[in-house]
Amino acid sequence: MNAVTNFLTRDCPACGANGGAAEAFSGEAAETLSLDDLRPYWRGLFQKKVFFTYDRCGGCGLLYAPVFFDQAQLGELYSAMEPNMDAIGDDAIEATQRIYFEEATNGLDVSGNFLEIGPDIGYIVARAALDPRFEHFYLFEPNKSVHAELEAATNRKPFTISEDMGDLSAVPDGSVALALMIHVLDHLLDPKAMLVQIRRKLKPGGRVAIVTHNERSLLRSVMGTRWPPFCLQHPELYNPQSITRLLNSAGYGEVEVHGSKNYFPLSFMVRQAAYTAGIKLERVPLPRTVLGLRLGNMMTIASAG
Ligand SMILES: [Zn+2]
Repeated sequence: MNAVTNFLTRDCPACGANGGAAEAFSGEAAETLSLDDLRPYWRGLFQKKVFFTYDRCGGCGLLYAPVFFDQAQLGELYSAMEPNMDAIGDDAIEATQRIYFEEATNGLDVSGNFLEIGPDIGYIVARAALDPRFEHFYLFEPNKSVHAELEAATNRKPFTISEDMGDLSAVPDGSVALALMIHVLDHLLDPKAMLVQIRRKLKPGGRVAIVTHNERSLLRSVMGTRWPPFCLQHPELYNPQSITRLLNSAGYGEVEVHGSKNYFPLSFMVRQAAYTAGIKLERVPLPRTVLGLRLGNMMTIASAG
């Protein structure tokens, strides 16, 4: 059984080094299976965890999968995927995104354009559209089915919506006060290329704010390989040091990282806990109280430099 040739083999996407030590792997490693074998795991249909082996880069310390889906395979898999976070509920999403927006704009004292990669239906866009600091909204969202909702979220501010995340040429260089990526960077095969493009768009005093998982979080050390971000959607995972190095190498100046809070309805948390323990709770009515927890996510803010 040698399915490796079906997938992309790559060097470290942050520093280009070749060679690291395997650190996290599933009982049956994704790289030993075929694309067709992996489809049901991608869609979360099986409880058994299968993911591509993560190596620790010997050059820069990034945790990344040296074998992963290629861009064409990812395009096909994502296009067959359900919208993000559907099961969580609007109250909890709104509470979480409100905190992200407050943290991302805290102390921002320039006005200019707003850029978001992967804004989904525009939870944060709707807040930013009420903030006089932001002028033109540049929104890159591959899921065309949410473009109408996204447009509505801009609340009649000038906007440009594109489905092509790989091409930011519509955004004037040096014009952006705030660029946002919420749970986007650790899905990209070439995160450095994206960061270099975004940096060119920032104006002096502007910043990029990035939410990712933190692979050095307490939650990861408690859960081990059961930690949910070890999955087929993440070609690499960051910690405060590895994301800082990546941003510096992409030309950014000051980088600040802090733990970020997520809000989840209590019913969602109970279901997740039960799911992890192998119990199905679908038919049990549960309370809808919203909880805020530090679940091992981090927000990274980097200045134009
Ligand atoms: Zn590296």
